[in-house]
Amino acid sequence: MENVTDTIAAVATAMSSSGIGIIRISGSEAIEVADRIFRSRREDFCLADAKTHTIHYGMVYDGEEALDEVLAMVMRGPHSYTAEDTVEINCHGGVLVMKRILETVIRNGARPAEPGEFTKRAFLNGRMDLSQAEAVIDVINSRSEYAMRSSVSQLSGSLSRKVKKLREDILYQIAFIESALDDPEHISLDGYEEKLNGLLAPMVEELEKLLRSADNGKLLSEGIKTVILGKPNAGKSSLMNVLVGEERAIVTDIAGTTRDTLEEQIRLRGISLNIIDTAGIRETEDRVEQIGVSRARAAANEADLIIYVVDGSRPLDENDRMIIELIRDRKAIVLLNKSDLEMRVSEEELAELTGGKTVLSVSAREETGIDCLEQEIEKLFYEGNLDFNDEILITNVRHKTALEQALASLRMVQTGIADQMPEDFLTIDLMDAYRQLGTIIGEAVEDDLVNEIFSKFCMGK
Ligand code: GDP
Repeated sequence: MENVTDTIAAVATAMSSSGIGIIRISGSEAIEVADRIFRSRREDFCLADAKTHTIHYGMVYDGEEALDEVLAMVMRGPHSYTAEDTVEINCHGGVLVMKRILETVIRNGARPAEPGEFTKRAFLNGRMDLSQAEAVIDVINSRSEYAMRSSVSQLSGSLSRKVKKLREDILYQIAFIESALDDPEHISLDGYEEKLNGLLAPMVEELEKLLRSADNGKLLSEGIKTVILGKPNAGKSSLMNVLVGEERAIVTDIAGTTRDTLEEQIRLRGISLNIIDTAGIRETEDRVEQIGVSRARAAANEADLIIYVVDGSRPLDENDRMIIELIRDRKAIVLLNKSDLEMRVSEEELAELTGGKTVLSVSAREETGIDCLEQEIEKLFYEGNLDFNDEILITNVRHKTALEQALASLRMVQTGIADQMPEDFLTIDLMDAYRQLGTIIGEAVEDDLVNEIFSKFCMGK
């Protein structure tokens, strides 16, 4: 593909003040370069003599100037992240120190690594396949713990495994058809179409399942769009404040003071929520208020999750009925708020009116019942067939597109069978599906695609 043996270096940890910083050097001269700047207390010691996977205490020098006290870790290829000789210099984590050491390393024979270049080498040297390499980007970028966990499981190859299995199955069918066409005397295609149809159904299902997880994957990394609805003074702003943990929304006693929508990102139990607080929904003559109301409606239509806040201290009215109508077919949690006051509405009544939605009694003022809300959000979220132990999340647009195209191709095969197309037509679509799936694990991908993917990596990985 290209010459990947030259020696590259970068700061592998975040470029910010932290406990330690790591400067990573990888390539055929990595150990030599490190030896030029590293001095052990033992004068006769050099890293070139060190065994693989050993750590050595010493100082890094720029000429005669001592830069920092460090630990140098030697890993010889192929047993390193990049599968090349690698030295990692652990220094004190100041930005200036890391920068000075990196500059010294570069003056002594390495060149600065491009973004993602270490991971690219790992891929080119066969240490990981493309989907695993891309998962590294997601590990670096993931914004919530759950996204992190799913990236890690993808890294260990569960997506690759599923895709490989699908490809194998498809390839087998292509091979079978082609052999039968080549050698009709010995291999019969009688009744084959029916058999193929039977095999396609679970494959299509598997792809659909992976694609569903793609949507959930998006939710995980970007946050679930959550809208808080309720008539004016129900306690929406108060609830939002409790969830956000700061006095961002203005809480007042005058109905309709939350005129605009406010958005806030919070994390509950590792799940990111983008919470949108809306003006109270109600029929109104007030023009400013009307705009807020229509926005609330629009937000509700786009929401992944609705939290409907009811003022339990007052009887339900027209506004409530309107909101109940709005949330009828949506994923929603009903909060019976102000449970610290005398209640005029019951949980049972609300459950019945909303067609069996979960109703929780809370008090935004006293901050009671909030735990149950968090629990419920977590539960609702994972009911969407998300189970982190064996479920794969497609967190990546390229993967999703490839899966969609593979799915479309397999559906073409199904249509072809229904239309009684000749077998060699079927193999064209099977082959398409095979190729599309191949792009996920980096088989048969063009160089420019590889480069595009790796340029997305951050420096030092
Ligand atoms: P919004 O118009 O729906 O955003 O409602 P606010 O959050 O502004 O609250 C309206 C009024 O109800 C304020 O005076 C709050 O202090 C009060 N309030 C909100 N939640 C509770 C609660 O749980 N218990 C009691 N007693 N009052 C509450």
